[in-house]
Amino acid sequence: MRKLVLSILIGVLALGGVFLGQPNQEPVAEARGGRVLNIYSSRHYGALEAPFVAFQEATGIEVRVSDGEPRALLERLRAEGDRTPADIFLAIDAGVLSLAAEEGLLQPVESEILLNNIDESQRDPENRWFGLSQRVRTIAYNPEVVDPSELSTYEALADPQWKDRLCLRPASHIYTVSLVSSLIYHHGYDEALEIVKGWVANNPTYINSDTRIIETIVAGGCDVGIVNHYYLARLKSQDPEYPAALFWANQDASGTFYNVNGAGITANARNYDEAVEFLEFMSSLEGQAGTPEGLPGVNFEFPTNPEAELNEILAQFIEEFGEFELDLEYPLWEYGNYQEDAVRLLEEAGYGFDEG
Ligand code: FE
Repeated sequence: MRKLVLSILIGVLALGGVFLGQPNQEPVAEARGGRVLNIYSSRHYGALEAPFVAFQEATGIEVRVSDGEPRALLERLRAEGDRTPADIFLAIDAGVLSLAAEEGLLQPVESEILLNNIDESQRDPENRWFGLSQRVRTIAYNPEVVDPSELSTYEALADPQWKDRLCLRPASHIYTVSLVSSLIYHHGYDEALEIVKGWVANNPTYINSDTRIIETIVAGGCDVGIVNHYYLARLKSQDPEYPAALFWANQDASGTFYNVNGAGITANARNYDEAVEFLEFMSSLEGQAGTPEGLPGVNFEFPTNPEAELNEILAQFIEEFGEFELDLEYPLWEYGNYQEDAVRLLEEAGYGFDEG
């Protein structure tokens, strides 16, 4: 009986250590000899995504995910400091990753494998984070009413010809903030402000879901919108004839705006080796596959490893909507420097903060 009480007590203490996130206490799984990896993730494609499961199976490392909005998770990392349980910070926005790196929340990673797998343009110059998949934010339209020859740039959507025809994501969402940060980068604050004021003058419908933006375009509620490419890919995966189209914006300018899903290792990661293995796995051909077991494949994103095989639907996109260039002029590691200005600009332009 005393033994039983004692073992229950030890169990409670061990669990308490994990739940309270005490800094110098080893997680239970580690105490049992297992290897674990704690991830803060702003991806929202199910609790434990297929590529994480594949990583667990390949390495025996148990993955624990805690999710949230990118800026909220960054806040959490800041607040927790070196007591954070997170080993990996996985964010859907290069701006948030670069802010985390600049604030010393991430550490440089030495790995030849990562340097070989991920192109220089897709990772932090000091190797504190690595882009693992790409999301292109571009123009979606209804081909029944819009001819692609009428489309050119994000900037041109400020033209009065698009009055009452635009669907846009509200300013509260990071997708809008990061796109507008690119306008500031290319044109300066004042000119970018005029462009965004032009969008606002066109009386856009603000919809806080890219999927619903595309659905509204198809239903005739607007003719043109700005969305991440994979939302149309998802709709096409359910219905190959889904009647919306993409236009690769700004091809005659600096290229189409994109962002990455990327990850870095926290400054005081307790499971550093496991975290390196995770990044290396996610950058490998297996982790980068366009099938649902690969990180880009889960969400119809583009791989950042140029050798990786492209998702079928994306290959069709390129056939249907053409080849395109990404905006590599605006380096990913600069994104964080323009976010605050972008938030201020959106407010100053009177751009809608919420849906409606
Ligand atoms: Fe998304």
